[in-house]
Amino acid sequence: MQFGSDDLAKYTFLPEAGDFIRAQGIELSDLSRPDYVNVVNRARERIVEAITKGRVSDQIAKNKEIEIMSFPVSLVLVRSTNLDHLMSLYAGAEASRVEYFLSNERNPRIIEDIFKDYIGVELEHTSGKGHLSAYYSTTSNLFLSLPPFRIPIMEYLKRAVGLRKPEWKLVNRMVSNGKVFVTQEDIIHLIREEIKAMIYQRLKDTKLAKLPENLERISKEIIKMAPPPRESFTILKVGPENYPPCVREALKLLEKGENVPHYGRFLLATYLLRVGKSVDDIVALFPKAPNFKQNVTRYQVEHIAGLKGGRTKYSVPSCKTLQTHSFCFMDPIKCRGISSPLQYPADRRRSRMQDEGTGRGEEEEARKGSQPNSNRERERAVKRNRRQTVDWT
Ligand code: SF4
Repeated sequence: MQFGSDDLAKYTFLPEAGDFIRAQGIELSDLSRPDYVNVVNRARERIVEAITKGRVSDQIAKNKEIEIMSFPVSLVLVRSTNLDHLMSLYAGAEASRVEYFLSNERNPRIIEDIFKDYIGVELEHTSGKGHLSAYYSTTSNLFLSLPPFRIPIMEYLKRAVGLRKPEWKLVNRMVSNGKVFVTQEDIIHLIREEIKAMIYQRLKDTKLAKLPENLERISKEIIKMAPPPRESFTILKVGPENYPPCVREALKLLEKGENVPHYGRFLLATYLLRVGKSVDDIVALFPKAPNFKQNVTRYQVEHIAGLKGGRTKYSVPSCKTLQTHSFCFMDPIKCRGISSPLQYPADRRRSRMQDEGTGRGEEEEARKGSQPNSNRERERAVKRNRRQTVDWT
């Protein structure tokens, strides 16, 4: 289907939004002209919103063209900082905006098309196509509405395998002709990570070239404004018997040769690096994982360790993040009151605080310790930024 400017202003990541700009024949150097001041301002605003609020607002400028054009300009600006953690933060903030519009999208054709063409999933809206829209529930003795979308069972399983809540289990789903019925919220939950990954990839694919002076100025401003990477370099002495339940679950799944969802793998790599394991130690845990490719796993672990890509060392995800991604297996006693797997077990943290009389947890100490490194990293990025510039794509 043909997307209109209203749609492109909402789903700015669509390639059609890029075509829209290419059709205007705008060059990167043109962005210093007064005609594009609103585009550049909105691009800057998108990034500031991402840094300060964690999401890009869903307000759309009256002039849709400004909204559409500001997205690729924002990508150029974020890419120019060469800060990997900022790219990740920005991709997440733009993905939240897309999620908002998808949740409120009233045109099922748009949802079907985005899924088919950009996520590669044959999603089907069921109403008005001769499909069942209700079923008779023998439990309640009532006719109940069926969720309005259907997704092929394999596509569903690929994404729901890491989701622990009972409602995601296939036995708790309506299935018909090899397709699983899902609500609009369900499908957005299922592809949340893919949207972020798609935007992150767009950022990584943005080529380096010389920026006009006004963009160069904004790029430097963003580098100063960007939060330091949330990372900690202190090696903690934690034996396997004290690994938190979420880490133990990831190890158990790997041992059984079962799939560990994305956040589980990310947790495993970041946590084990923090407790002093080497990249080799971590890669050696994965051979039984489905579709294991040694070079891919090694690259991913090295990337997380800050040895590849943007050289950012990634921090251990918080308990809240792991809960959001259904990868928390909370121990009601030992996990009580903690906000990071690094603080597990809670008793150990408390006794350590009492022993040392510091009143600080490990996380806080580690953060304090890592601050100078973070600042150094930021300064290095500023220097890199002076040497590198980006290309308009
Ligand atoms: S509460 Fe935190 S440490 Fe405990 S299992 Fe959940 S994510 Fe892991």
